[in-house]
Amino acid sequence: MGLMEKIRENFPALGQKVYGKDLVYLDNAATSQKPKVVLDLLNEMYGGTNANVHRAMHKLSDDTTMLYEGARECVREFINAPGKECVIFTSGTTASINLVASSYCRKFLKEGDAVIVSGDSHHSNIVPWQLACEIAGAELKVIPVKDNGELDLDEYRNLLDSRVKIVAVEHISNVLGIINPVKEIIQQAHKLNIPVLVDGAQGIVHADVDVQEMDCDFYVFSGHKIYAATGTGILYGRRELLEAMPPYMGGGDMVDTVSFAKTTYAELPLKFEAGTPHFIGQATLKPALEFAKWLKEGEIGKAVKEEEEKIIEYMTNALAQIEGCTLYGTAENKIPLFSFNIEGCFPSDLAQLLDKMGVAVRTGFMCCEPLMTRFGVTSMVRASFLPYNTLQEAEYFIKCLNRAVNMLR
Ligand code: PMP
Repeated sequence: MGLMEKIRENFPALGQKVYGKDLVYLDNAATSQKPKVVLDLLNEMYGGTNANVHRAMHKLSDDTTMLYEGARECVREFINAPGKECVIFTSGTTASINLVASSYCRKFLKEGDAVIVSGDSHHSNIVPWQLACEIAGAELKVIPVKDNGELDLDEYRNLLDSRVKIVAVEHISNVLGIINPVKEIIQQAHKLNIPVLVDGAQGIVHADVDVQEMDCDFYVFSGHKIYAATGTGILYGRRELLEAMPPYMGGGDMVDTVSFAKTTYAELPLKFEAGTPHFIGQATLKPALEFAKWLKEGEIGKAVKEEEEKIIEYMTNALAQIEGCTLYGTAENKIPLFSFNIEGCFPSDLAQLLDKMGVAVRTGFMCCEPLMTRFGVTSMVRASFLPYNTLQEAEYFIKCLNRAVNMLR
């Protein structure tokens, strides 16, 4: 068995047929398929170790708490956070950004201040900041995107001043697939003591993340894009900031003592984990991240890297050969993610035809309407790959795409 088959056999979903055709799943930037280790843990926990975390003096609750806290340690190690208390479980990237935008801004954002976001931002890295700015009477500023998809760092430097209270940028855009120079962005902001939040929804999957080396103040991501259960996510935060921030949601588990007169709060990380969390889902972050590590190491890691390089080269050339095809995000330092338009073909028509051939892609504005506007379009087609995708699938995709284009023109 080849190494790619060895990887793929972990994913039951990849073996299915759609409309009688072998599934070619290229909508990975939206969500990943799940490996057996994750599915097995979900089954074991729902069918066995099921009890609420942190709450009861009995074996099942203890076991669940161990699995939940074990996953937190695994996340800590995966991103090299300095301590487990800096790793907050949330329901996903969106929830993590809303937590920071709400809690941090309530404390630190005042009238006349400003927040900077990157122009390639997902709606979840725009709207929460807009809401916070509206409440505070602050201004939202945007780092422009250049024609090749890179962020304009000269403009960014011009936007930075003492009014800016936080910078929130994409690690990797879910439309352009370009790895942004987040370290440089952070260094510039830190010169003025401005904290930086990095949206790592795509970054955690495709880059090696070391939050201490990156020196970010917040790093957020979703479990479901990196092989774990849906409804799971992480907010990494610098300890001093998390400590200074007020609780976001109130309820069980986030308190120390409660009286009608006054409530005091639990220590980190529980201060930000009100209510029953998705503890079974969060526990799957451990097998999921161990799996992600396995994909990066040794001969498997080498095979994955080689296949990825071949896919990027093949896809870039093949798309360029299609008449009237515009690829968005042409800068170097790119992950295997390709958003494009083809003259004379509506993205949704292309996606529907591809679907009938077994190929799953994403179309629409991909939760990035301002970025679509920047490129003068309302929609794109996106094919996004993960390490379980093969060059053969890329070739099949291009063959199907050409067929679909011929049918539509
Ligand atoms: N940011 C980016 C870059 C994303 O790709 C996504 C998911 N498409 C999100 C934020 C939001 O993630 P979630 O829906 O899992 O909260």
